[in-house]
Amino acid sequence: MLNLFQHLIKLKAQPLIRLRFFITNLNTILIHTFQHILILKETNTKIKHMKVKAYAAKEAKGELQPFEYELGDIGKEQVDIKVDYCGLCHSDISMINNDWGMSEYPLVPGHEIVGEVINVGSEVKGLKKGDKVGMGWYSASCMHCNQCMDGKQHLCNTAEATIVGRHGGFADVVRGHWSWATILPEGIDMSKAGPLFCGGITVFNPIVLSGVKPTDKVGVIGIGGLGHMALKFLKAWGCEVTAFTSNKSKEDALKKMGAHNVVDSTNSDELERIAGTLDFILNTTNVKLDWDAYLTTLAPQGKLHTVGAVLEPMEIPAFSMISGEKSVGGSPLGSIALTRKMLEFCVRHDIYPTVEEFKMEDVNKAIKHLHDGKARFRLVLKA
Ligand code: NAP
Ligand code: ZN
Repeated sequence: MLNLFQHLIKLKAQPLIRLRFFITNLNTILIHTFQHILILKETNTKIKHMKVKAYAAKEAKGELQPFEYELGDIGKEQVDIKVDYCGLCHSDISMINNDWGMSEYPLVPGHEIVGEVINVGSEVKGLKKGDKVGMGWYSASCMHCNQCMDGKQHLCNTAEATIVGRHGGFADVVRGHWSWATILPEGIDMSKAGPLFCGGITVFNPIVLSGVKPTDKVGVIGIGGLGHMALKFLKAWGCEVTAFTSNKSKEDALKKMGAHNVVDSTNSDELERIAGTLDFILNTTNVKLDWDAYLTTLAPQGKLHTVGAVLEPMEIPAFSMISGEKSVGGSPLGSIALTRKMLEFCVRHDIYPTVEEFKMEDVNKAIKHLHDGKARFRLVLKA
């Protein structure tokens, strides 16, 4: 069609030839025009079908409200996932409240998604419609930087977070790059699997990264969504596990989950009593605690690792690290391959998050429940 018009324009100096050319090709021009109209109509219909029903905060700290948006045409390497369940992570609350100064409104939270692939772009690999998948904090990465080429896509500088500058999983559909949609193992309980894709991999990664051994004595600070999954993983790893909690009413549940010891996370005297005993401590809280006292609980060469996004700078005295060759670190999520390995580990050891289920439309009740410290231990929204 374009070629015909271009040819016609080139003949501008010869009006009669131009007219004859037009009449000769009229049939073809009409057919092409008709096809073009059909394509446009089909595209419009497709876009109309891509309306997403979601829940969004319209302003910082605002309640979530029903919100609709159009997804547009799917990219070649993208998949659309019909959301079955989505976990509620504390990072959703921090994003709603703009605690990290990077929220854009309207903001659709939700980044612990499990559901079914309902649409695939033309260059998607390894996934087809009907596959059951999970998607977490990240839903795209560049796939050509050194980190991506090294299989550490979660460290990609331009990795796309599911709820930063785009809309997440408190919705009926969410879209992402095929590589971040991880196929779920056969027979997995979908109603509990969502939290593994943010909270789960976030605590699994540092256990692997830090080379935690079955003979190690380890601690987990803050036994909420992330913390309780860390307890279960470390128990299955074979470690002696100490749960640090600010809520002693959780003690029995934590022992059933695998904690050998339960210590008050806010009581420096209790921390002093276990000085020099732990090889590895994982912090999952986002509050100011007595970090120096925690360094004291570490054995020589021990490590304090935070995944909790502590909102205030952490005070770490240099000498508390120097004297026993101790270290402090942190990490985000985990790689795509490690997420797959974590799922295998969960199936092998029958590890699931302990969840409370809310309907998606009751999302504000769920947020209040978590905010009030009542969640036991991860809240999941059913779409
Ligand atoms: P959560 O379910 O709310 O759990 C946090 C736990 O921290 C609470 O259950 C509580 O445990 C403890 N806590 C809360 N307030 C406290 C206080 N004032 N003093 C002492 N302890 C307190 O949150 P989550 O979803 O597990 O997320 C935890 C943190 O990890 C958040 O900062 C989140 O943004 C971050 N996060 C980071 C990544 C990453 O990639 N690094 C990924 C996901 C989440 P007890 O009742 O046992 O004391
Ligand atoms: Zn999260």
